[in-house]
Amino acid sequence: MTFERPRVVFAYDFDGTLAPGNMQEHAFIPRELGMAHEDFWAEVKLLARAQRGDPILAYMHLMLAKARAKNVELTEESWKRRGADLPLFPGVEGWFERQNARAAELELDLRHFIISSGNRELIEGSPIAHHFEKIYASAFMFDEAGDAIGPALAVNYTSKTQYLFRINKWTLEEWDEVAINKVLAKDDRPVPFDRIAFFGDGLTDIPTMRLVTDQGGAAVAVYNPDSARSMAAARELRDDGRAHMAGPADYTENAPLDCLAQALLTEMSARAHARNLVAWPTDPARRSPSPLVGEGGLRRRSDEGAIALAVQNI
Ligand SMILES: [Mg+2]
Repeated sequence: MTFERPRVVFAYDFDGTLAPGNMQEHAFIPRELGMAHEDFWAEVKLLARAQRGDPILAYMHLMLAKARAKNVELTEESWKRRGADLPLFPGVEGWFERQNARAAELELDLRHFIISSGNRELIEGSPIAHHFEKIYASAFMFDEAGDAIGPALAVNYTSKTQYLFRINKWTLEEWDEVAINKVLAKDDRPVPFDRIAFFGDGLTDIPTMRLVTDQGGAAVAVYNPDSARSMAAARELRDDGRAHMAGPADYTENAPLDCLAQALLTEMSARAHARNLVAWPTDPARRSPSPLVGEGGLRRRSDEGAIALAVQNI
């Protein structure tokens, strides 16, 4: 698979990264369920423990069970309406087009993704939804009447990494379980990890940041400068070696995060275009031309070799 311009990706967590707080806490929990959000999350924790389950599935279940008890509307449309009012950090709305324009100048094809444990339906209703190639987030299943009846997809801290591999192999559909597991040699993957930058802020981002960092991509810790807790979380991500870059959650032009994004794009562009300039001599001993290609990598010579490479890569 080839793309006209080298494809690069900015992937973002949502809560605490692009938007302050948890998305359910702004209106849904306090106004529609009539609860303090601390009480809601405490109940989620108790339920997950009691059921020996996943807290993501527990919060999704409780959202629906409590909403049903209060006769709250559960259609996809209603979730999107709730999402439309989510507050965002400063400058977020103008960020994507500015980065896209820079990427185009650098002859890169930049795509944006969300990888969040929050609700997909809420993010899809937000005014920035159209900027994303895909919004990977926890999603509800809907019945024939159009009402949410249970979870269809739960994205937790470790399943977040699955979506990085989906981007890496450009196998983007959530439901696909075949193509994502096919062997694809590192050199043949449409978006190498060193062309992925992940922006995140906390606990659910740790395995994702670890993976991005270990594979040569950029893990950026975003923090709220008005929150001591958020800044402590960023320092912890740095101290534990999960993130190696950081910036305050201000997405306006020329803010530190914006300058960092520009530098990352420049670096990715230089690396991608250098790779395209690699010209190895033809090896006369081999029947097929140029078996050795860019980044010192070995191109697939046999299925056996490809499997060995894939195992090494995952
Ligand atoms: Mg977060």
